Amino acid sequence: MSIVYLDGTFLPIDEARISPMDRGFLFGDGIYEVIPSYGGRLVGFEPHMRRMGEGLAAIEIKLDTTLEDWRSIVEELIQRNGSGNLGIYIHVSRGADSRRHHAYPVGITPTVFAFAFEIPAAPRADKSAAPTYSVVTTEDLRWRRCNIKSTALLGNVMHFQQGYTGGHTETLLYNQQGELTEASACNVFVVKDGVVRTPPLDHQKLPGITRLMLLEILRRDGSIPVEETVISLEDLRAADEVWLTSSTKEIAPVVEIDGQAVGDGQVGNVWLAAQTLYSAHKFDF
Ligand code: PLP
Repeated sequence: MSIVYLDGTFLPIDEARISPMDRGFLFGDGIYEVIPSYGGRLVGFEPHMRRMGEGLAAIEIKLDTTLEDWRSIVEELIQRNGSGNLGIYIHVSRGADSRRHHAYPVGITPTVFAFAFEIPAAPRADKSAAPTYSVVTTEDLRWRRCNIKSTALLGNVMHFQQGYTGGHTETLLYNQQGELTEASACNVFVVKDGVVRTPPLDHQKLPGITRLMLLEILRRDGSIPVEETVISLEDLRAADEVWLTSSTKEIAPVVEIDGQAVGDGQVGNVWLAAQTLYSAHKFDF
């Protein structure tokens, strides 16, 4: 896992150098993506790259790289790093300037960095094999542009740590109105009486690609009702099942929230049905 891509060149990670004046380093001024790949097959490549394009446009970073350029960079990275189960991390920062000044500099070249890291084998639709999550809840104290996949992740890192120090594997976030937003590194779904619900997209949440794909897969299949709707903390506590979604976790069952069991404390049947459909269709995107 040692060959990385930096500004047009593939090279060993130990030889990769970025200026300390890079605005990614000084300001977290950049956009990133993480795309899973299993045995060389990418999951959601196009929606991931579309989201990256939207993030770059939102912060006015201009890059000529086409979808096909990205595809060949990503494919070469996979091929040079063993083609196993890999997460592909792509990072575009505004680039290095000669001074530290808040305004977007004119005429600098964005820094493009990508590397591959090992991820667990694709989650299986098997209740006894599913990794389960125990989480805590806390008020979402991040900024109001969480729809942008910014490399400035300190708010998310601090929220993740709140759960992690107590031995938990994620932190669920709610806004000042007591409505669920997402988790520190995942989107969230709840199931009640067979209906799957997730909060609607807005500036408080990342538009997750796993969320997008799962909603589309469930709607196309039609056997499980889905809604994008506000979810209160009370709805969360009364849920039969709660799931986290992210590119490397896919659909992850939460079995405990703030020390209380979710439903009967076991991985649920709706999760099994949803993960079965997701596993069958995730390469369609
Ligand atoms: N929400 C946040 C804050 C995240 O950081 C992530 C993934 O990194 C997600 C949601 C899930 O997004 P995706 O499904 O695109 O991995």
